Amino acid sequence: MNLEEMDKKFVMQTYARDYTNFRRGEGSRLFDEDENDYIDFASGIGVNSVGHNNPTLVNKLTTQISNIIHISNLQVIEPQAKLAQELARISGYDMVSFFANSGAEANEGAIKLARKYGQIKFDNKRYKVITLEHSFHGRTITTVRATGQESFHNDNFSPYPDGFNYVSDIDSIYSSIDDETVAVMIELVQGEGGVEPFDKAQIQKLASFLKENDILLIVDEVQTGVYRTGEFLASNLYEIEPDIVTLAKGLGGGVPIGVVMSKHKDILVAGDHGSTFGGNYLSTTAGLAVLEVLEKLDIKETIEYFEQKLEEVLKNHSDKFNKSVGLGFMRGLRANNSGLLANIMKESISNRLILLKAGRNTLRFLPSITITKDEIDEGFRRLDRALKNV
Ligand SMILES: *Cc1c(COP(=O)(O)O)cnc(C)c1O
Repeated sequence: MNLEEMDKKFVMQTYARDYTNFRRGEGSRLFDEDENDYIDFASGIGVNSVGHNNPTLVNKLTTQISNIIHISNLQVIEPQAKLAQELARISGYDMVSFFANSGAEANEGAIKLARKYGQIKFDNKRYKVITLEHSFHGRTITTVRATGQESFHNDNFSPYPDGFNYVSDIDSIYSSIDDETVAVMIELVQGEGGVEPFDKAQIQKLASFLKENDILLIVDEVQTGVYRTGEFLASNLYEIEPDIVTLAKGLGGGVPIGVVMSKHKDILVAGDHGSTFGGNYLSTTAGLAVLEVLEKLDIKETIEYFEQKLEEVLKNHSDKFNKSVGLGFMRGLRANNSGLLANIMKESISNRLILLKAGRNTLRFLPSITITKDEIDEGFRRLDRALKNV
């Protein structure tokens, strides 16, 4: 039985997968079983923030796993406390952290915190959370309900929890607030929804309105966080101070981790929330190593270089793309239609370049934050070759 057959026979087929068998990685290159190299512009959907086989991450993890991988959260965990301190310091937000294992779980935690806030802070119970169309907040029953895409909450998985409604754009949030609204949850650049950043002034206006009205602003930074947009958090870039920030993807450099950060430090108390694995030695040591690598990096120049390459693609292939979207290392090229995008994806992998889709017709780029100019050059050479064949 070959690998593809084994996968199809024993693994639940919930993904439309490619069957290239990668054996090792180095920076933004992956190598298959025949040592063919692939340029990685996807970084495991924005997860491998420091690339593959990063020496700092590997060394810190190797040392840690030979000491302790895991104990329970009933004992204090030194790297967990240190990572929480680093998240507060680097973000500049006076916030405490709860550690989970994924983005969806971080968002669940954020929703729980908001609901308890709505229960204890007001005379009438507030519990409703407003989200946006084209958002993506996760795959659990609650976070899939929070996800503002009708196709995600079909009847196969119903009933869904009450208390969520989504609106078509930022301006529609105001009129959908009522006296039971406790929070608004948004991404500042919708990752799965097409990589379109929201307008800064519009977000700042929303943030101050919510603050005045004692409604919590939850920013889902599962994809935008950890330097993805150029700043540590997209919230830093937008110069807002959310009540709750969630992180996951890039923070562990490939080790599963999720975080709920909040300035409301005393809402959740002992017994309210927990996670067996959350914040263990393995994942928080990974988080510390990733931050150590990324904080001292100067990424502005590489981001500009990447942006320039995208503009060239847009110019040279204006028959295929109509727009360049995104921020920092979270970028997209809007293809003219979804059939075309499917062909581009197919040609890219044939030319040994790994890319992602977003929404229906956006070609999405989420390279490692540590990607080099050489790797960028090689990736775009392959993209050019791929596009000439489409
Ligand atoms: C990926 C993602 C999630 C879900 O994260 P998982 O780790 O897959 O649960 C939630 N929100 C956003 C914005 C994401 O990009």
